[in-house]
Amino acid sequence: MTFDPYQTDERRALRHLVADFTQRDVAPHLARWEEEGQLPRSLHRAAAQGGLLGIGFPADVGGSGGDLIDVVVMTEALLENGASGGVISGLFSHGIALPHVVDEATRRRERGDTAGADYLIDAIIGPVLRGEHIIALGVTEPDGGSDVAHLRTRATQQDDGSWCVTGSKTYITSGVRADTVVAAVRTGAEGAAGISLALLDPTAPGYATPRPLAKMGWLCSDTAELSFDNVPVGADHLIAPGEGFASLARHFVSERISIAATAYSTAQRALDLTVQWARDRATFGRPLITRQVVRHTLVEMQRQTAVARTYTRDIAARHAAGEPVTLEAVYAKKTAVDACMYVVDQAVQLHGGMGYMRESEVERHYRDARVLGIGGGATEVMTDLSARLMGL
Ligand SMILES: Cc1cc2nc3c(=O)[nH]c(=O)nc-3n(C[C@H](O)[C@H](O)[C@H](O)COP(=O)(O)OP(=O)(O)OC[C@H]3O[C@@H](n4cnc5c(N)ncnc54)[C@H](O)[C@@H]3O)c2cc1C
Repeated sequence: MTFDPYQTDERRALRHLVADFTQRDVAPHLARWEEEGQLPRSLHRAAAQGGLLGIGFPADVGGSGGDLIDVVVMTEALLENGASGGVISGLFSHGIALPHVVDEATRRRERGDTAGADYLIDAIIGPVLRGEHIIALGVTEPDGGSDVAHLRTRATQQDDGSWCVTGSKTYITSGVRADTVVAAVRTGAEGAAGISLALLDPTAPGYATPRPLAKMGWLCSDTAELSFDNVPVGADHLIAPGEGFASLARHFVSERISIAATAYSTAQRALDLTVQWARDRATFGRPLITRQVVRHTLVEMQRQTAVARTYTRDIAARHAAGEPVTLEAVYAKKTAVDACMYVVDQAVQLHGGMGYMRESEVERHYRDARVLGIGGGATEVMTDLSARLMGL
């Protein structure tokens, strides 16, 4: 029997823990959060108490340890038990924002600036991992998201070494509730090498009240447009100087694998709900599942989901083992998003009129799934990146 890193005792225990958390603290409340347009802060604290917010972050900064395999297991268990893509994006927005701050704390430690590292841990990393503080990543701008190297929000250095940030960001997950926004800003010349990251405080002068954006799906995950007019940023809150683009690119790999996990797990949930529906629902005197064409559709839904899961899990394991998988992460995202789009569409179809109703869970998955081929790198942009990585 080959060793399966997804089936260790620890990861089985993690799956149970996440299942309990989801069934108790998420699923019964999700419809209300969808109406309210955001997740309650109490959910972040509950997830932190269960150790979930810390997964993938090292213990020496207050994390629970573990790697991308644990993140994948957690994502699967959340969706299997009735959570949603929206819950995952809003509750785990720190998954895309915090790694940049953790990297900066590590860099400070390595150059002997222990006080600077401890400051970041005490002021930002610790509170986020305890679920007391919400953090968001602000890269996309109103006039362009895919072309990150040409972003326009600018940080200008002041005589005392501090910075002032002017510009705007849009479609920012958790941007309405955020206590800190890790914003990609231009500190240097045009192009990728002129980008740094600024830790913005939404209570600072010049930081406009975030504008909540109404969306097609992910309704429980708040999304905001942000604008900054000379927002002051302390010198120690300007991180990754000139390395912002590289830091974003590095962490995009795990983000894409996580999106792939969300995609095939959403597909699996939609399929499970549809199999049950097809057993229970009768048309023309027989259960739907007795029709060959329905069974074939369910098999195709399962085939695409299984292939996406097997490939994504393999790439996540290779990433966790330290292998470079930039190209493979793009393949995983596309494979899983395509599978998800097919499956949620068929799930709605087989549910008939009920599939179109707000009261059916597959209707929510159908709307939630649409963003997966847009966020974290639009499919066409990812395909272009693949061509470059292949030397084409
Ligand atoms: C719900 C939601 C949450 C989000 N959360 C965040 C967040 O937390 N932080 C953040 O920074 N951003 C976030 N985003 C933004 C997201 O990353 C961007 O929407 C995405 O990168 C695409 O950028 P854009 O919307 O500006 O599209 P554009 O760059 O304007 O592209 C539009 C479309 O054109 C096509 N396209 C673009 N370039 C090419 C090309 N070279 N060749 C062929 N086709 C192309 C693609 O189909 C693309 O979807 C979020 C978006 C949504 C919808």
